[in-house]
Amino acid sequence: MIADGRPVGRVCVLRDVTHFKELDALKSEFVSTVSHDLRSPLTLVRGYATMLRMSSELNEEQKGYITKIVVGVESMTRLVNNLLDLGRIEAGIGLQIDKVQAMEVAEAVIGALQLQAKQKNISLGVEPQEKTARLIEADRALLQQALFNLVENALKYTPKGGQVRISLKERQQGLLFVVQDNGIGIAPLDQPRLFEKFYRGRQREARAQRGSGLGLAIVRSIAERHGGKAWLESQLGQGSTFFLLIPYEQAIGRKIALSGGSEKEKASWR
Ligand code: ADP
Repeated sequence: MIADGRPVGRVCVLRDVTHFKELDALKSEFVSTVSHDLRSPLTLVRGYATMLRMSSELNEEQKGYITKIVVGVESMTRLVNNLLDLGRIEAGIGLQIDKVQAMEVAEAVIGALQLQAKQKNISLGVEPQEKTARLIEADRALLQQALFNLVENALKYTPKGGQVRISLKERQQGLLFVVQDNGIGIAPLDQPRLFEKFYRGRQREARAQRGSGLGLAIVRSIAERHGGKAWLESQLGQGSTFFLLIPYEQAIGRKIALSGGSEKEKASWR
């Protein structure tokens, strides 16, 4: 605090977040219990519905109903898989740390989503580069999933004819993945809560898209498991930019615990 140009004191604001932490733990527990038990019946329903569709005795109307069942089951399966992923990431089981080339990750994600982009006539690509030769230590599959979720969202929440750009930047704290779109943007009220589990934006255009509100929670968990972070900047009606920062190196103890590593490698980490 400043009075008459001189500092006269400091203000310290403390906030008890126990309730939020408890709520988060409760959601995690719910996530792992429910998701496991749902997977097998869903596989069963999808299998039989697909077989039924192949039967020649059905008329077009009946086949249409079955297609609707399959689409519904597929979207439930996606949700369950998301829940299982989240459980796995939060529990920290099975992370496999490798030396990863960020550009390869970005190209894989673009390859997987190019068709989706074409269908909406959205131009999707990697920004012409500053050099990003530096490798990062990360779980390649998880990193790819985090970037995939960000780019998939950018495509989902950008109207036809828009633009989605990925860029990679070397920063002192790690490698920064930036996903920028010129889509619907995010209201300031939604922004602080967007990475929470099950949270969905309140805008009508956002609600018009299918979703479970788990994509960004997965991104945040993956970032945190790597000792990194994820955040966003956005302006309503103008577009959004999501940032994912992954440190170049993983902490030594964690690296041994997560990847195993050869005996020689372990010795060199000590
Ligand atoms: P979902 O997309 O399944 O709803 P996410 O966790 O991936 O769940 O995203 C949460 C919410 O964040 C979305 O419902 C949407 O409102 C908002 N959102 C995410 N990415 C974007 C984006 N690129 N542009 C605008 N809104 C976004």
